[in-house]
Amino acid sequence: MPSEMTLEERTAALEVVASEIRVCKKCPLWEGRTHAVPGAGPTNAEIMFIGEGPGYNEDKQGLPFVGQSGRLLEEFLAMIGLNRDQVFISNVVKCRPPGNRDPLPAEIETCTSNYLFKQIELINPKVIATLGRYSMGLFFPKAKITQIHGQPKKDDGRYYLPLFHPAAVLRNMELKPQAESDFKKIPELLAELNKQAPSAKGGGGKQDDEPPPKMTQLSLF
Ligand code: URA
Ligand code: SF4
Repeated sequence: MPSEMTLEERTAALEVVASEIRVCKKCPLWEGRTHAVPGAGPTNAEIMFIGEGPGYNEDKQGLPFVGQSGRLLEEFLAMIGLNRDQVFISNVVKCRPPGNRDPLPAEIETCTSNYLFKQIELINPKVIATLGRYSMGLFFPKAKITQIHGQPKKDDGRYYLPLFHPAAVLRNMELKPQAESDFKKIPELLAELNKQAPSAKGGGGKQDDEPPPKMTQLSLF
């Protein structure tokens, strides 16, 4: 049970998941990959971002959000006083769909049931921010991003916050002010959760051996 695991055990279990992803052939997407992209960040991250899937640069490097979308994600993070090493960044599918096509329902189902949901359980973040519609679709089925972006949903002590994908903002810069104000809700949600349970982690009561990465911005709330 993850809630009874120490931070070290959770980190080790996450590394096992990442090793499985790197050699995975459970769906056809493995055939086109250079590197699978398991995700990156601290085990005890309070915030988890979930994108769609690796693009060209991510596939080359085996790391999430290292291209243009990643730069914009980092810009948004800086706006709330964070950098990428303080959050966990992952994707719905871990291998790049050929030509950046959309992931297929069967690929999403196979990859998330084997990997993403295990990562979420082990990290047990307080806030899950979805980037784009496929990630949103895991937690807000049938919703439309244009209608629900920036509107958090609380479930079992955790907030789910649907955000525009940075690539969508790059394609249409008119979305940027809205994307920024949606993003700024993250520290507000964390502050609210931390006020309710100052020492315990939300939901699972996980045992942390060390404090989560510092949220400098939170001192403002
Ligand atoms: N877009 C995504 O959805 N994920 C990445 O890792 C990079 C770009
Ligand atoms: Fe395995 Fe996911 Fe890659 Fe498919 S996309 S091969 S399920 S890691």
